[in-house]
Order: sequence, then structure tokens, then C-alpha cells
Amino acid sequence: MLTGVQVLLLGGDARQLEVIRRLTELDAVVTISGFDGLHSPLDGAVQADFEEQLFDGVDALLLPAVGTDEHGYVHAVFSNRKMQLTDSHLARLPKHCKVFTGMAKPYLHQLCKQNGLDLIELFERDDVAIYNSIPTAEGALMMAIQNTDITIHGSDSMVLGFGRTGFTMARSLHGLGSKVKVGVRRSEHFARAAEMGFEPFYISSLQQNVSNIDLLFNTIPTMIVTAQIIANLPSRAVIIDLASKPGGTDFRFAEKRGVKALLAPGLPGIVAPKTAGRIMADCLSQLILEETIKRGNGI
Ligand code: NAP
Repeated sequence: MLTGVQVLLLGGDARQLEVIRRLTELDAVVTISGFDGLHSPLDGAVQADFEEQLFDGVDALLLPAVGTDEHGYVHAVFSNRKMQLTDSHLARLPKHCKVFTGMAKPYLHQLCKQNGLDLIELFERDDVAIYNSIPTAEGALMMAIQNTDITIHGSDSMVLGFGRTGFTMARSLHGLGSKVKVGVRRSEHFARAAEMGFEPFYISSLQQNVSNIDLLFNTIPTMIVTAQIIANLPSRAVIIDLASKPGGTDFRFAEKRGVKALLAPGLPGIVAPKTAGRIMADCLSQLILEETIKRGNGI
């Protein structure tokens, strides 16, 4: 239980509703700001205006999936009010307070550093990234279905990158009966992809492997689907770029060539906010509990 633990949660989207629910169930003292536009009340949480004194005595500060923008503004879909996180807010947090977010921009990194606060980025954790790969792959499949006139079954697909997202993407496509090529750069990934029944190739030979592809899913967060690659793709191909913004595709050239290319960020929060919220809630509640026990306040 998190009895007596003070949590301040600022902004976010439907995923945060799951987090709030879980933390109040665990008996934490949850104060929320950025939910004033929500129609139904959130039992057990205290709604408050965004003011500096909210930060006094807080044990855990929870920020949305993307903590703040480059200027410190916290995105809050359930509010029209602006919340700008500044040094004067973080300076009021006790030094033991942990700051949690999905992924942080340099602004938030800097703010936490100058206030000596630990910043924990949930999406960097393997467990969260692996769980999140499930709604990501489902969302990518949905986009593929919506943007093609063929079935995934029997299609020639390609997945670039064999990390946490690429692995699940390739397995999901394979499970639906697609012939899946997987672009890797490590020999152990090549071996694993072969063992799983995919057709692996090294990224260095990407250009030689794209000529018959119907669906290309990129998970490599660097420019990889270049003009040269796109020029070798059949015009019927659809590119779904899952890598974080700005993706790894030359979208300008794809448009010029008439190849459909879609950047698809933030799929878990879009296609399965409840599941994505539960993933965050499970991880956050566990981490806050561990911190509480470390400080000797565990119940
Ligand atoms: P990951 O586990 O680190 O996997 C990245 C993969 O890309 C690894 O296989 C890595 O190879 C490979 N790679 C990186 N740089 C490369 C390069 N220069 N050349 C060849 N291969 C390279 O990351 P992840 O969790 O799967 O996430 C992948 C991307 O998807 C990230 O940008 C992440 O933010 C994004 N993402 C998007 C969504 C969405 O909704 N669209 C959801 C989750 C994640 P090595 O293993 O050899 O390093």
C-alpha cells in the first residue's frame, strides 16, 4: 500500500486516469492538476489549481507521457489552462521526490538536474517498452489494414529494427500470415529472426531487399528509409514509420514518388489508452512502492 505517500499528478490524457485510479486504490494521497475539463469526478483524488505550493512535501511528481515541451509546458487534454513547469516549482519539491514521465525533453532533464532531483523515464525501461510494443503493433496493423487493399495474410512485409517494438511487430505480422523480412545489424538478431521463421537481412543490404515489399514498418530512429530506398520500393508499398519523431523516412521524397508513407507516433495512447494507462500505472505504483520502502516508510 502507498498509505501517506504524497503524489502530485500534472496533466496528461486518458492514460493518466488509470494511473490516478490505481494510486488512489493503493491509498496514496493524490493531488491532480489539469483535469478541470473532465466531466466525471475522479474518486479519491483532490483536484487543485496549478500553484507553487502544490509541490511542497510531494514524494512523487507524475508528468504525462511526454513530460513537458521545450518550454516547460505540460500537455493536459482535459484542461484549457496552461501549466508551465519552472525552476520555482521544482525547487519546492523535497530532495527525495522522484519525477516520473514517459520520455523527457532536454528542458525537463535540465530542470531536474539543476534541482538535484531523480528523473525516471518509463518508456526507456525494457518492461514498459515491451508491454507498450503490444498496442503499438496492434495500432500499426490497424493502419496497415486501413491503408491497403490487400490482406496482411499473404503480404510481403518488412520490419526494420529488431528491438522491443520490431520484435513484436514482426511476430504479429508473421502470426497473421505475412511473409516477414526483418532488417537487423547484429548477428545474434539475424540468428533469432531466422529461428523465429522470419527472413532476416542486414540493414547494410536494405536497398537490395525492398523491391517486392507491400508493407514496410520502420522502428529505427534514424534516417533509414532514404530516397534511394524509396526509389527501389514498388509504388504500391505502404510505409508505416513507428520510430519517434521525426521518424526514419524521407517523407518528402515518398510523397514525390507517390508512395504512401505515414508517421505513426504515440500509438499505445491512441489505440488503447486504457491498456497503455494500466501499463504505466503498474510500473509507477511498483516504483513508488519500492522508493517508499527504501525510505523506510513502507507499509
Ligand atoms: P529499441 O528496442 O532500442 O530498438 C531499436 C532497434 O533499432 C534496435 O534493433 C536497434 O539495433 C536498431 N537501430 C538503432 N539504430 C540503428 C541504426 N543506425 N542502424 C540499424 N539499426 C539501428 O527501441 P524500441 O523500444 O523498439 O523503439 C523503437 C522506436 O519506436 C523508438 O524511436 C521509439 O520511441 C518508437 N516507439 C514508437 C511507438 C509508436 O507508437 N509509434 C511506440 C513505442 C516506441 P541494435 O539492437 O543493434 O541497437
